[in-house]
Amino acid sequence: MITPPDYDVIIVGGGPAGLTAGLYTCRARLKTLLIEEMFVGGQVATTEMVENYPGFKNGISGPELIQNMEEQAKKFGLEILTGGIEGLSVGKDDLKQVKLSNRELSCTALIIASGTKPNELGVKGESELKGRGVSYCATCDGPFFRGLDIAVIGGGNSAVEEGVFLTKYVKKVYIIHRRNELRADKIVQERAFNNEKIELVWDTVLDSIDGDETVNGIEVRNVKTGVLSKLKVGGVFMYVGVKPNTEFLKGVVTVDKRGFVITDDEMKTSEPGMFAAGDVRVKLLRQIATAVGDGATAAFAAERYIEDLKHAETN
Ligand code: NAP
Repeated sequence: MITPPDYDVIIVGGGPAGLTAGLYTCRARLKTLLIEEMFVGGQVATTEMVENYPGFKNGISGPELIQNMEEQAKKFGLEILTGGIEGLSVGKDDLKQVKLSNRELSCTALIIASGTKPNELGVKGESELKGRGVSYCATCDGPFFRGLDIAVIGGGNSAVEEGVFLTKYVKKVYIIHRRNELRADKIVQERAFNNEKIELVWDTVLDSIDGDETVNGIEVRNVKTGVLSKLKVGGVFMYVGVKPNTEFLKGVVTVDKRGFVITDDEMKTSEPGMFAAGDVRVKLLRQIATAVGDGATAAFAAERYIEDLKHAETN
């Protein structure tokens, strides 16, 4: 006699990939729980304006988009639980066991959509001044830097978009990038180049952050000339890439050397019945538009996996 699981599907992570997966599994009438560690929305929830998600010709705020996604999924029966996951395992009858701090839940299929978190650079002063001038979220902290000169580190979409966003509050933004060409989308670059409050500092890396109570300056180094210089800034925003939230699944599914989950194009991981969707997996383009596609595919693949198990049991 096979023990019935608590849920048909458990989804780990409440960003666009997880919420879309939940929408699809609930519409397939699969009993689904989504577990989110902090708050639903992932990185989108801290994005002021989303302009490249189709269907919103004037753009849409990140929080509004995610709230719509959450309400839509809940309307079809998605249950959402807040809690950190301490571990995953595969138990009796191939059921997946999800260990939370106070209990363990089982499911037939599991979808990992736990996203990413910002990288830290590890320079002197970074950890000491975190929350006291060193920030990883412009939308959360921007208003605290009103009227100051600040530095943004990085040259990707996050650094340049958030640098432009910060000009709403601050006097001047130095975007400090290690190369002489930005990685950000061209349209995002143009906005930075045309913004009088932004100064691009090319071929330069951050060596240290200075300050006692709060940040009062940084030391930077030109990587071509080796010349060191000091900039007087009241804040530093770090946007030097992201790392996957995959600590809880170490040893359960195969990940690449940076920790991103390896999947096939049906979002299957190395472990049967476990799927991954969105930024957490190895992929070319990490965007909301690709995350929702992953979520839908993972949900469909999970549904097929569950159907196949049922057929195998009855035959
Ligand atoms: P990213 O695209 O990986 O860019 C990270 C930036 O940090 C790069 O410019 C990189 O330099 C620089 N960097 C990395 N390590 C560094 C180091 N040790 N020292 C100095 N600089 C360093 O990361 P992201 O901007 O956080 O974006 C993450 C993902 O989300 C991307 O796929 C991005 O496209 C996506 N995203 C999309 C949007 C949007 O569509 N509107 C908005 C935000 C994020 P190099 O360029 O030299 O490698």
